Amino acid sequence: MENIKGTCLCGKNQVIIKRYGNFVYSCHCDMCRKMTAGPVMAVDPEKSDNVELQLDTESVTYYQSSEAVERAFCSTCGTYLFWHHLERDHYCFNAQLFPDIIADAQFGLQVFYDRKPAYYDFANETKKLDSQWQEVE
Ligand SMILES: [Zn+2]
Ligand SMILES: [Zn+2]
Repeated sequence: MENIKGTCLCGKNQVIIKRYGNFVYSCHCDMCRKMTAGPVMAVDPEKSDNVELQLDTESVTYYQSSEAVERAFCSTCGTYLFWHHLERDHYCFNAQLFPDIIADAQFGLQVFYDRKPAYYDFANETKKLDSQWQEVE
């Protein structure tokens, strides 16, 4: 897919991913879960030059959740937008921004699996990585 458009709930913040497949992964880390009320389902466009942000400066809020990472959300509608690694200039987006990606998504990876609370499990067969990026089974 090319030039895939994503928007927050109110539409003030938009993102275009120039080229992407349909791969979605989940993150079970404490911060993602707290910020979004569940495990984040995310898309990783790999390179920042594959991304075009069309953010409304009046209604986007950044929260620096660790030394290396900032998270952005829409301060009008509350939608979580993305995670951004500042040194690597690497973005991962809330998959739900992109109806065209999730319509035909392949869910193939869970990360921070060792941080997942026991009360839920996905039934999907996926690769699982712990918080040290080691494979889990
Ligand atoms: Zn919004
Ligand atoms: Zn996370």
